[in-house]
Amino acid sequence: MILVSSCLLGICCRYDGLSKPDDEIIKLAKQSQVVPVCPEQLGGLPTPRPAAYISGGDGFDVLAGTAKVLTVRQKADVTKNFLQGARECERIARFFDIKRAVVKSRSPSCGLNPQVGVTTAALILLGIDILETG
Ligand code: SF4
Repeated sequence: MILVSSCLLGICCRYDGLSKPDDEIIKLAKQSQVVPVCPEQLGGLPTPRPAAYISGGDGFDVLAGTAKVLTVRQKADVTKNFLQGARECERIARFFDIKRAVVKSRSPSCGLNPQVGVTTAALILLGIDILETG
């Protein structure tokens, strides 16, 4: 079973209320068993929601409590929501014994390069192999 960022499957869970469908991942989802997750929704944030970014480090630093997640315009602190989303994804990953995940690039939750997102950091710490796309 593979954990997948929901927006890659065409689910409209992005901050702007849209999705980011990826044909290859949709094909993969039809051939394998995938578990779609949106950490920001699981963290209790609405859709649409203000865009956010990691300030002062990366997702590992947010997990360690040394960096924060802020909204781009208002600089509102949404770190608690991002941590809750990461913890819920961890719980889902453990439940389904997930070994691989496909994540959406350039997201403060799901990204891998150039900056690891909060949920992706939590998944890496669980030993899950991460593939990034989008
Ligand atoms: S990148 Fe992650 S957090 Fe953002 S919409 Fe997609 S699944 Fe949700």
